[in-house]
Amino acid sequence: MPPAEERSDAYEAARTGALEWLTASWNPQLTVRDWWSRLADSGWGFPTWPEAWFGKGMSAAEGAAVRTAYVASGVLPPPTGLGQLLGAPMLLLHGSEEQKTRFLPALARGEESWCQFFSEPGAGSDLAGVQTRAVPDGDEWVVDGQKVWTSGAQWADRGMLLARTNRDVPKHHGLSFFIVDVGQPGIEVRPLHQMNGAHGFNEVFFTGARVTDDRRIGAAGGGWSVAVTVLMYERTMASVASVMPGRKAGQLDELAGPAAERAASARTLGRTGVSELVIDAAGTLGRTSDPVYRQRLAALWALDTTNGYLARGGQSGRDGKRPSAQGSLTKLSRSQLTRAGRDAGMAVLGAEGLLDSPNTTGGGEIQYRALSSPGASIAGGTDEIQRGIVAERVLGLPKEPRADRDVPFKDLTIGTQRSAD
Ligand SMILES: Cc1cc2nc3c(=O)[nH]c(=O)nc-3n(C[C@H](O)[C@H](O)[C@H](O)COP(=O)(O)OP(=O)(O)OC[C@H]3O[C@@H](n4cnc5c(N)ncnc54)[C@H](O)[C@@H]3O)c2cc1C
Repeated sequence: MPPAEERSDAYEAARTGALEWLTASWNPQLTVRDWWSRLADSGWGFPTWPEAWFGKGMSAAEGAAVRTAYVASGVLPPPTGLGQLLGAPMLLLHGSEEQKTRFLPALARGEESWCQFFSEPGAGSDLAGVQTRAVPDGDEWVVDGQKVWTSGAQWADRGMLLARTNRDVPKHHGLSFFIVDVGQPGIEVRPLHQMNGAHGFNEVFFTGARVTDDRRIGAAGGGWSVAVTVLMYERTMASVASVMPGRKAGQLDELAGPAAERAASARTLGRTGVSELVIDAAGTLGRTSDPVYRQRLAALWALDTTNGYLARGGQSGRDGKRPSAQGSLTKLSRSQLTRAGRDAGMAVLGAEGLLDSPNTTGGGEIQYRALSSPGASIAGGTDEIQRGIVAERVLGLPKEPRADRDVPFKDLTIGTQRSAD
């Protein structure tokens, strides 16, 4: 039986209200740009955002109900890039009114795509060790350094940058958070190609890049708290797959109808949809009468279903609060499901699993997901880091010892920093 919030009156009212509005307002002949603009003005695109900012002030559970209405109605879902899923909630908590006014409209309407400039060659799990520097110059900051694993930087109009602005204080206290324009001469985006054949992320070099001080979110030196908000949202991220926002992705002026069909083929609804995929393949290959496969498929379906409940219920962030550390459980569950789907899927395919071809059972999607599976337990913080967070912040176990808590950053030998300079 679904959790209580999915059987509540508020959940049902949100789903019905969304369905009514979506079916009455959908027009597949509109461009993606015009449909998203209509969604933004209605509040149904981002219902958990406040009413003053393109939303309806709904709870996480009500937001989940609205997502089911997108799937049921077949309309094009709202834009779901990192700007919309992470940047906007971050701005709502930490941005000034001027910054919300400047950035939220283009995000709500899908006119912009954002990326996340956090990880560096020497700072991933130890994110507070970032070495990219931002140095003040009049009312601007000059940025030098390198980021890596930056998803979607090739499509991004802007990036959320975590940079070091003070090396004389302990590492968590000398960071600042900026929104930088990606298409400027001081930022070079180089592709990284993965074993699944995709180009999902990049390495990005900052050489004298510039950002004005009014693009700094929060206090100078207060960037760690803003970054943690982004990470909390990343761990509980749930959305209905849509087409990519932003001008560079080139889909804004296409018709919304065909875009909705493309989005439907990549649909996730807060879970990976992997059990349907694998069970369908098992049916096609005549494996569903075998008790060993049946047991495995049932276990995968159960994991997928509970993962969906966790993902749909996990995100809060209303009333000025960010999602809790329990989001790490959602993230752990998702990576466990990804691995289980990979193993069950490859077992079902047998020798076909060795072929990279759309002409295999499941259209090659099972093999693609298998090759993509390692990323799930790394992106947004590794499984080990999530377990550490659950141990300390959910279970209240003793904190790991931290020798660098009171040491100025410049005196640390961490990441690629081997001596003070
Ligand atoms: C698909 C994908 C998309 C990504 N997108 C982005 C993006 O858009 N923007 C961005 O900034 N980054 C992105 N990343 C980077 C990601 O956040 C980092 O890879 C991740 O935080 C791990 O950092 P690392 O790779 O430096 O590994 P490391 O931190 O070097 O970790 C290496 C190993 O050591 C373990 N380890 C480290 N510290 C501890 C500890 N304290 N306790 C126990 N074990 C520990 C880790 O779990 C891991 O197994 C992406 C990564 C992936 C896979």
